Amino acid sequence: MSTVSAMPYSNFCRVEAYPVTAPVLSVVIPVFNEEAVLPSLFDRLYPALDALDRPYEVVFVNDGSRDNSVALLRAQYQRRPHETRVVLLQVNFGQHAAILAGFARSRGAYVVTLDADLQNPPEEVGRLLEQLEAGYDYVGTWRAKRQDNWFRKYASRVVNVVRAKLTGIRMADHGCMLRGYARPVIDAINATRENVTFIPALASIYSARSIEIEVQHDERIAGTSKYSLLRLIRLTFDLMTGFSTVPLQVFSLVGSVVSALSAILVVYMLGRRLFLGPEVDGVFTLFAIVFFFLGIALFGIGLLGEYIGRIYLQVRQRPRYLIGAVLGESADEPRGSRRDE
Ligand code: UDP
Ligand code: MG
Repeated sequence: MSTVSAMPYSNFCRVEAYPVTAPVLSVVIPVFNEEAVLPSLFDRLYPALDALDRPYEVVFVNDGSRDNSVALLRAQYQRRPHETRVVLLQVNFGQHAAILAGFARSRGAYVVTLDADLQNPPEEVGRLLEQLEAGYDYVGTWRAKRQDNWFRKYASRVVNVVRAKLTGIRMADHGCMLRGYARPVIDAINATRENVTFIPALASIYSARSIEIEVQHDERIAGTSKYSLLRLIRLTFDLMTGFSTVPLQVFSLVGSVVSALSAILVVYMLGRRLFLGPEVDGVFTLFAIVFFFLGIALFGIGLLGEYIGRIYLQVRQRPRYLIGAVLGESADEPRGSRRDE
């Protein structure tokens, strides 16, 4: 009797078998409310990866989706358990945090990140893998004929130029998330304890031998962009202040030039007053000057706030993400980053 009832239980407890050898390639994909695109993604991604003829795993990270994405990911895990792992985050932590969670749970010698919306064609993964296998530890990309609206295109061109000047990080196109990383770079990223971060920039700092290649870029096949203008601006601030203190230095420089100029102005006004008597005209000019300085001062306070806010986030040491469950993971597996969970 007891053996009969014990059987299903022990079956239930059995850890799902995994490929004995670690996969060569991990493809990490953040997913936030992508029910409209996931079926087409599965249809294109798996055949493209099968064709590479290397052991691989796809690590989907559900970033707190509120639609049917989780059910779709679960079903895909059931269909391809050996090549699929699903990391379920508790709530929405943002694309970069989701990718970090995926990195921490990836096992491949090489890791490629991809957007779920098929704007980055999965068929390009092989070209990135080629470069990684050739010995590059970080493969960046830029988008050929970028398919976004004109505002996104021009705004990001401006941000690109400013970012290059401020941070000194050379990157043709920081917005494209189809990128490849070798294990040492992933390990370095996993070991980094930064709260706000911009993964491609971090990788380019850690990489010893990097290359950039051109990739195709398509329109989002379905669903809508998860980035509002405000979120994009915040991401840009993360990039600027997270990787450079140049904005602060520029500000102190502007501050000192302005105080030098106003000192000259004060001396001039004093001389005028003594030799020509008091003046009453020019009140509005004075207002204009005062408001101009006030604007600069407010901007400076805001800028300081950006840095202080980030320091505040960092000192609280809250986890960057919280993992609820991982489908397709054995209990005794070593993990990249335990502190975050
Ligand atoms: N994403 C995410 N969490 C978020 C926002 C986006 O995981 O809070 C994912 C999203 O599902 C997609 C990728 O990040 O796979 C890129 O998002 P999206 O296509 O909306 O950005 P865009 O291409 O418009 O820059
Ligand atoms: Mg997109």
